[in-house]
Amino acid sequence: MAGSAHSGSGKRVVVVGAGFSGLASASLLAREGFEVLVLEKNASAGGRAQVYRKDGFTFDMGPSWYLMPDIFERFFSHFDRKPEDYYQTVRLDPSYRIFFGRDDYVDISADFEANVALFESCETGAGEKLREYVRIAAYKYDAAINEFLYKDYRSIFDFFTRRTMTEGRKLHVFENIDRYASRFFKDERLRRILQYSMVFLGGSPANTPALYSLLSHVDFNMGVWYPVGGIGSVVEGMRKLAESLGVQFLFDHEVTRLGVRGRRLESILTNQSSFPADAVLMSADYAHSEIDLLLPPHQTYREDYWKKRVMAPSAVMLYLGFDGPVPNVLHHTLSFQHDWMKHFDAIFKAPAWPEEFSYYVCCPTKTDPSVAPPGCETMVLLVPVASALDDDDETRERFSDKAVGLLEDIAGEPLRDRIVSRTIFSQRDFRGAFNAYKGTALGLSHTLMQSAVFRPSHRSKKVDNLYYTGQYTHPGIGLPMALISAEVASKILADEQSRK
Ligand SMILES: Cc1cc2nc3c(=O)[nH]c(=O)nc-3n(C[C@H](O)[C@H](O)[C@H](O)COP(=O)(O)OP(=O)(O)OC[C@H]3O[C@@H](n4cnc5c(N)ncnc54)[C@H](O)[C@@H]3O)c2cc1C
Repeated sequence: MAGSAHSGSGKRVVVVGAGFSGLASASLLAREGFEVLVLEKNASAGGRAQVYRKDGFTFDMGPSWYLMPDIFERFFSHFDRKPEDYYQTVRLDPSYRIFFGRDDYVDISADFEANVALFESCETGAGEKLREYVRIAAYKYDAAINEFLYKDYRSIFDFFTRRTMTEGRKLHVFENIDRYASRFFKDERLRRILQYSMVFLGGSPANTPALYSLLSHVDFNMGVWYPVGGIGSVVEGMRKLAESLGVQFLFDHEVTRLGVRGRRLESILTNQSSFPADAVLMSADYAHSEIDLLLPPHQTYREDYWKKRVMAPSAVMLYLGFDGPVPNVLHHTLSFQHDWMKHFDAIFKAPAWPEEFSYYVCCPTKTDPSVAPPGCETMVLLVPVASALDDDDETRERFSDKAVGLLEDIAGEPLRDRIVSRTIFSQRDFRGAFNAYKGTALGLSHTLMQSAVFRPSHRSKKVDNLYYTGQYTHPGIGLPMALISAEVASKILADEQSRK
């Protein structure tokens, strides 16, 4: 991080939230010489990436794909450490399986040539086109890392630079990925392989810029990794790092009010007590931080602003423990057996519970038996759904049961009788656990008008010592993006506050 070493010189920063962005920011600020206190409403660290243990099973509650290992390496290198100092990773092969019908599936390999052959077998000429598609994706990834992702967008002029405008066309910023991928591939299945990851960005292929085809470089070249023990071991590593730098954590401390006088935030009130601070970095959900914790004169973005945003989906999550193995699924399995545009429409166009849906299954015991009792299988089944739907008990039970039925379809055998642990987590739980606006799982979608400078700012415009990080801010959703957001926001805070 630029800025003089130890520029914080003992000033106290309170970081609100101990998710990935909060954990990363806490370490980066401690390294700059700030005295850092983290206030977290829940009993443990991780935020969306919390670990849930039940009936002998260990579930990563949210993220399960460890992508972009370079970003994690860069983060730990700021402290002269490596990820391996805290956790081990293994590359998955196959990376994942996609079902298009009950017996119709493809496996995406860690070997690029195998994927070229797979594409060629689906559509003549598609093998070479995949090479071209991924070559362009790698170019976009490099441009993003070197030019855009770590950038502090202060104003519209930082976005509309000559380079952005000339590169913008080359990087396909102004075209959606659905149209872009159609120019390469006719086969619907191939387009789905290249576009499913838009859900990771909280969007659909129709509302996400084709710049994000860079994820195909991540997927096909960099690979899909697994931190042994699960994502929880990364959280544990980041917490240990922070503690080794002197960061203090207070769990079960929910911030209930940010006390502002004039343009300065002076105190942070929690359900337990009140804390002074020289500066505050909010990593809790941005909308909650503004609407619920600040009085209107101090809000940069009022409720009207949030109402007009395109929110990323919520999800119905099923944490399932099985007695015995579940056949036909890999560590990561996606099922696109139904018309996926109808499912996307039920999320973004006309929010409703979808009649038919795609889903994702994470079965970490396929790689790591330590996360279940002997002979058992740990599974997380995720169905993206619109946020702000009514998820009463009866609706979500019915929906979950249907999802298990679809899983039985691809497993090719009855599974219900072997479920020995079962927990449902849906919109209301995202609201309750994380103060998530409308129960969104991922915050704000990455539409063009919600990317880069158009995402909510890292700086409050109304309060001089209040800053924001996390998935709502630039660069956006995902664990690697949370780390980058932490780096950008911590640098801004350190630079500005050490001058004062
Ligand atoms: C189901 C799901 C699957 C995902 N899959 C992947 C994946 O496979 N790979 C990937 O890279 N990313 C994935 N993501 C995205 C990734 O998990 C998030 O983008 C990232 O974890 C967000 O981190 P954050 O720090 O911004 O927010 P959070 O993790 O939400 O952290 C914010 C913290 O603030 C706390 N908080 C809220 N309000 C208060 C308050 N008033 N006082 C004190 N504390 C408060 C919350 O409890 C929380 O701990 C997934 C997300 C979900 C939900």
